[in-house]
Amino acid sequence: MGISGGKDSAALALYLNKKYPSIDFQYYFCDTGKELKETYQLIHNLESILGKPILKLENPELENTGDKPFDFYYKSFRGYLPSPQARWCTALMKLKPFEKFVNGEPVISYVGIRGDEDREGYISREANIQSIFPFRKNIWSNDVMLKFFNPENRDRVADLYQRQFKGASLDTAVSILDEYISLDHNNRAETEKILKNKASNSLNLGISAFNHVVFDFLKSTQYPLALEDTYELLENEDILVREDIFKILRESGAGVPEYYEKIEFEVDGQKGEYARSRSGCYFCFFQQKIEWVWLYEQHPTLFKEAMKYENADELFTWVPNESLEELIQPERIKEIKLGHIQRSNKAKSKSSPYLLDILEGTEREGCNTCFL
Ligand code: SF4
Repeated sequence: MGISGGKDSAALALYLNKKYPSIDFQYYFCDTGKELKETYQLIHNLESILGKPILKLENPELENTGDKPFDFYYKSFRGYLPSPQARWCTALMKLKPFEKFVNGEPVISYVGIRGDEDREGYISREANIQSIFPFRKNIWSNDVMLKFFNPENRDRVADLYQRQFKGASLDTAVSILDEYISLDHNNRAETEKILKNKASNSLNLGISAFNHVVFDFLKSTQYPLALEDTYELLENEDILVREDIFKILRESGAGVPEYYEKIEFEVDGQKGEYARSRSGCYFCFFQQKIEWVWLYEQHPTLFKEAMKYENADELFTWVPNESLEELIQPERIKEIKLGHIQRSNKAKSKSSPYLLDILEGTEREGCNTCFL
């Protein structure tokens, strides 16, 4: 189980450890060396509560360099900063150490995507790593669903359905199986939408029954779960959303990282609130401009550190087309804050009261490996 340092993976570790004490989970953390101190504190708290160390994974090439992982790679990339289009940071500091650690062994990787989120999260391309999503109604990954609902497996799945469903439920399950599915590789969004509907409608017939069918189906595949005789999570019908996550963190004593707590600010007589929406490196390029302002005002030393990595002459900036130097000019800060207040008011009027939702919702793209 990967612990990113964020709230969702922390809550997942606590939740599964409590609910499934017989499963011997292994926890790991891939440190970039550039997290906020609250992240390291959370990891420490988790270790005490879970009663197990959280393994710190890093690439062997870093040994004896004395560099923090990010700095080592930053130098080897000659100052070329990572970005959403060139995410060498995640690939080299998170995915590679994990896949190296796993070393080809069959592994179930637990991912903390919540039941109120509509995203898939990191799925390893390695066949020996199978992702499971315990907080969601559908614990299975898209790649498993694609195989399961592939028309070429239709008869096998229909047979397996007979073990779990009877009468009208069986008819419905088979009719969902027979509904159209697009397998066009060029239109993955369409395929994923269809898969999501098929899975959701099938789960409505019985979560545990559907899970058993998928589990039986996996027996004929190379997925790691094919090696198991039983699997406790098949019976899990919990769906956990944002409120549940905060509750788990508070009640367990692990605590909610302070950076999630909103802070009030005032600009031109208007009041607003800001916070940091996610874990990860303090300079992460996925953060929004208001979060950069938060960093500048709440953690000025870290902001200055982030500035040192930029080279505006080479266009190596964290934010496209704007250096941090430019971003902290008083007029620019005012503009960012006013824009944030406006967007927040708009979002509040029609959706969630949570600032986190407003911050995350305006930018769904992010690093699912770092922010969970
Ligand atoms: S938090 Fe952001 S900068 Fe850090 S490794 Fe993840 S994507 Fe890269």
